[in-house]
Amino acid sequence: MNIAELLTKKIDSNQLVLTEFESKELLQEIGIEIPPQSLTSTKEETISTAERIGLPVVLKLMAEDIVHKSDTGAVKLNLKSKDEVEKAFEELMNIPSKSEKKISVQKMADEPITELIIGMTTDQQFGPALMFGIGGILVELLEDVSFRIAPIERYDALEMIHEIKGFPILDGYRGKPKADIDAIVDTLLKISDLVVKHEEIHEMDLNPVFIYDKGLICVDARIILKNKEE
Ligand code: ADP
Ligand code: MG
Repeated sequence: MNIAELLTKKIDSNQLVLTEFESKELLQEIGIEIPPQSLTSTKEETISTAERIGLPVVLKLMAEDIVHKSDTGAVKLNLKSKDEVEKAFEELMNIPSKSEKKISVQKMADEPITELIIGMTTDQQFGPALMFGIGGILVELLEDVSFRIAPIERYDALEMIHEIKGFPILDGYRGKPKADIDAIVDTLLKISDLVVKHEEIHEMDLNPVFIYDKGLICVDARIILKNKEE
């Protein structure tokens, strides 16, 4: 994949919001791990793809007009048999949407120590700003996130991780294993590099990223591009 070419093509055709599938393909290209994923259209194709990827799988409806997938029932988790995949496919295809529908078949990721949020927004004055936080209610309720203007270095990434109030959750809280801080640092640096190289990226939202004692995996992502005038 040539990232610059892909982004130019999207902007030229005014498709400024990449789908989850496209966003995660791009993340994989810069070395961020994602669950194996494949796009399908028919029931038969979905079942055979699920079997190829290996159960349990997750099915998600990809349609341009569906943004918050869970809110509309567009995420079917932990499907463990052919029957469950078949039923989930039917339910997803019944969700109303005016856009073209595709199914993203993806491997169900193992339960993490916690979910993380890693993002980027464009500040009018300072340009790309990176964001880090722990997922779920901690981010939503407590606004427990840290920000840095890109580009960042390893030291900045470590500060971003340590300064959030929820840091103990990553540091072996209540007998849980310690999270792989190096993997988070690497991911923040890769996002920093990407957005500095590609100014046409307006916003990124990796939500959630599953963090483990070894490694991490991004299970949902959204990338929004700037329009030509910006
Ligand atoms: P939404 O568009 O609603 O944010 P997500 O793709 O984030 O939808 O899925 C909702 C939730 O389902 C995630 O926050 C995560 O907890 C879980 N999830 C999504 N994809 C996977 C996956 N491949 N493996 C395991 N859990 C997943
Ligand atoms: Mg999400």
